[in-house]
Amino acid sequence: MDRARIVLKPKEDLRLRAGHPWVYDNEIARVEGEPGPGAEVEVFDARLIPVGSAFWNPNSKIRARLYSRAFRAADEAFFVEAFERALAWRRRFFDPERQSLRLVFGEADGLPGLIIDSFVGRALPLDGGGAAEGRWVSAQFLSLGMEMRKDRVLAALESVFPAAGVAERSDAPVRRFEGLPTRVGVMKGEVPRRVAIEENGLSFAIDLLGGQKTGWFLDQRTNRKAAAKFASGRRVLDAFCNQGGFGLTCAANGADSVLAVDASAEAVIAVSHNAAQNGLQDRVRAVEANAFDFLRELERAKERFGLIVLDPPAFAKNRASVEGAHRGYKDLNLRALKLLEPGGILVTCSCSHWFSRERFAAMLEEAARDAGCRLRLVEERTQDLDHPIVSGYDEARYLKCLIVEAGERL
Ligand code: SAH
Repeated sequence: MDRARIVLKPKEDLRLRAGHPWVYDNEIARVEGEPGPGAEVEVFDARLIPVGSAFWNPNSKIRARLYSRAFRAADEAFFVEAFERALAWRRRFFDPERQSLRLVFGEADGLPGLIIDSFVGRALPLDGGGAAEGRWVSAQFLSLGMEMRKDRVLAALESVFPAAGVAERSDAPVRRFEGLPTRVGVMKGEVPRRVAIEENGLSFAIDLLGGQKTGWFLDQRTNRKAAAKFASGRRVLDAFCNQGGFGLTCAANGADSVLAVDASAEAVIAVSHNAAQNGLQDRVRAVEANAFDFLRELERAKERFGLIVLDPPAFAKNRASVEGAHRGYKDLNLRALKLLEPGGILVTCSCSHWFSRERFAAMLEEAARDAGCRLRLVEERTQDLDHPIVSGYDEARYLKCLIVEAGERL
C-alpha cells in the first residue's frame, strides 16, 4: 500500500514519543504524497525515524492523529486488537457483561476520536409489555478518521463485544473542528427508547438517543457513591443533577430529603421518574431552573443544606475561556458554601480538562475565603477507571471532584 509520509519539524516528535497522539498543522515540515481526507499516513520525525501511523485530516488544526506506533493499517483486525485491550483493562475493575461502562475512551485507549459506552439493562417498552434484558451501545465518532471507518468499528465491536443495538451520538460540538456534521440515529440493530440500567444498587432509566452526551454520565459512578456516604440524616441539594445520579444515590443512603435542580426539562422529568422507580419519590423533589439563579433564591430564603453537590457542565471549553470559567466556578462554589450548615459537606466537580486541578483548588480557596469558613479536605477524586488517565496525554484527565467539609467561621 502506498501511503503518504508526513515529516515533522525538528523536536516535534518529542511530545508524540511521550504518548501524545496529535500532530498540529504547524508541526509538519513536509508532506510526501497526496493524502486524501481521513487517509492513513506514515509519520516520521525530522531525522526520518518512524513515529507511527495516523489519520490525516487536512481540514483540522489537528492535522494527524496517531492510532499506532507502528506502520500498520487501521483495518478490522486493528480495531479488534484495540477493543480487546480496552476490554481487558475494564475487566480488571468491572464486570462488563453485567455493568454499564465506557468501553472506549478515545485517545486514552489508543483510538483517537472514538467513544463507546456500553449499557447493560432492561429495554423499557412503551406498551408496558415484557422488558428484554440486553446490552446496547452508544457511540461517538469525533474525528474524520473514525467517521470514515465506521463499518470496521462496528464489525470489530460485533466480534469482541456484541450489542443488541448501536446508537450513534455524533452530536458533540467538537465534530465541527473536524469539518463533520452532527448525526444521531440507530447504526445497527435496535435501540429501545429507554434502557433501565443499574448503578450503585439503583435503577436509572436512560435515553441513549435523546439524553445528553451518550445518555448517562458514567464517569461519576464512584463519586456518586462517595458523596452518598455523607448523606445520612442530611438535607441534600443536587445542583446540575441531570437525571439525578448524585441526588438519588444520596436519597437511597439515608438523606432526609433531596432537592435536585437542572436547567433541562427532560432531565428533571427523568429525576422524578427515577425517584419513583426506586421508591424514593417521598424524599426527592426535582426543579427545572438555572442553578445560578436557584442558588441565589435559596440564599435569599435562608435555606440551609447538610450536603451540596455541584456538577456543572464544562465552563472552560478551551484555554481562552479559563478566566471566565474561574469566575463561574467561584460564584457557584461561594453560593454553595453560604448555603451549607456548619459541618456541612460540599461535593464540587469540574469536568473541564482546561480547568486544571491546581486552578480548581485555588478557586475553592478563594470561595472559602470569601465565605469566611475553613474547609477540610475529605476526598480528592477524579473520573472512574473506565475513563483511563494515561501518561503523555494530559487531556485524558478531565474530571475533578473534591469533597470538603465546611468548618468553623473565620
Ligand atoms: N450530576 C449529573 C451530571 C451533570 S451534567 C450526573 O450525576 O449525572 C451537567 C448538567 O447541568 C446537565 O444536566 C445540564 O442540563 C445542566 N445545566 C447546564 N447549565 C445549567 C444551568 N445554568 N443551571 C442548571 N443546570 C444546568
